[in-house]
Amino acid sequence: MKSTVLTDKKMPFCPGCGHGVIVNSISKAFIELGYNPLDIIIVSDIGCSGLIDPLFATHTVHGLHGRAPALGLGVAMGLADRSKKVIVIQGDGGATIGLQHLLEAARRNIDITLLVFNNLLYGMTGGQISGLSTDKFKELRQVEEGVPPFDIVKLAHQAGAMSSARVISPANFTESIKFAVETPGFALLELASICPSYGLQKIKELDEFSEEADALLNTRRVNEVVYRETSSLLNDVEIITKKFSTPIDERYRVLLAGSAGGGIQLAAELLAKAGISAGLHTTMKGEYPVTVGTGFSIAEVILSRSPINYTGLDKPDVIFIMTEDGLEKVKSFMNDDTLVIADDFLPLTNAKNVLCKPFSKKVGKRSAILTAISSWISATNVIPKEALIEAIKPHKHSELLIKAIETEV
Ligand code: SF4
Repeated sequence: MKSTVLTDKKMPFCPGCGHGVIVNSISKAFIELGYNPLDIIIVSDIGCSGLIDPLFATHTVHGLHGRAPALGLGVAMGLADRSKKVIVIQGDGGATIGLQHLLEAARRNIDITLLVFNNLLYGMTGGQISGLSTDKFKELRQVEEGVPPFDIVKLAHQAGAMSSARVISPANFTESIKFAVETPGFALLELASICPSYGLQKIKELDEFSEEADALLNTRRVNEVVYRETSSLLNDVEIITKKFSTPIDERYRVLLAGSAGGGIQLAAELLAKAGISAGLHTTMKGEYPVTVGTGFSIAEVILSRSPINYTGLDKPDVIFIMTEDGLEKVKSFMNDDTLVIADDFLPLTNAKNVLCKPFSKKVGKRSAILTAISSWISATNVIPKEALIEAIKPHKHSELLIKAIETEV
């Protein structure tokens, strides 16, 4: 067992910053609970509290301002190994900027520990007051805001957190962190901090803010909220095994372009699955407007013998264009080196390196893309047609889709 979960990096905070005290308390708590660094996933937020990443020898993920609880929730839900612990860290600024994320994590009682470093202000941007700046602090700073601060501890409790507490005295930090970490479900712990650069100068000054300190320490709910076990999202991932082979050595970058409802995304997915079952490395990405029922629909598929490190598609080898929406979207990709396979009603018949065929006339608009892909596969042997048919079989309209594959145009 290691004696610390910290690296040997120097604290990045200003001299006397209260965040350093909390960092050491977190490390102590984990060691006393018997955790190894790689048992812990720390998800941090933006702000001075977000500078902690290099200090921890744990897994770390850095999130956007206020969004760390949502990110932590995703990490926790995707974890297959229940012995790992997700700790989300954010400041008082982040906690109020992304308050809804915090409340949702509490409402769902996801098994994460959220540590809110409350130094009563936005340290990184110059000391502005936050939604957790207390009335007393605002009085001290002569800030007349006229609205009360949020009570993050009560809000989390009301939202359904399994435990929720505020701790002012650093002497109680380690034990409180241990309590929160051991809570089976969502635990929020607000830890008082100081900011000598813009706020309170000395830890001792925190005593003034202790009216509610430690009072909520023992709020862990027993049998009140049912802790919901989450299962790993990876459990739902479809495993595709290699059943076919392909002679290709190189990489094919394929761009599919059409309109909403034209089966572009489905065709790309089927092509990608067929590529995997043929033993190729494969990526697939889709793009369409937020109005999913209208406008263009674009998809990129890379089929490659070697691993794909960059998934972007700057220069396609082949472009399938099924509609005018699609043509408009991808025409800038067309050049003399790119093969274009298009439906024959499009104004492309005289263009160089373009193969126009009456796909939609023969099989209808929704199936045209599959017929076009099928004709390309037959001509190039990129993957066996059987691999595409096998990918289609589980689909509810498999009969129709296989007919499109088997139609020659
Ligand atoms: S600005 Fe304040 S909170 Fe940020 S590191 Fe410096 S003392 Fe700490």
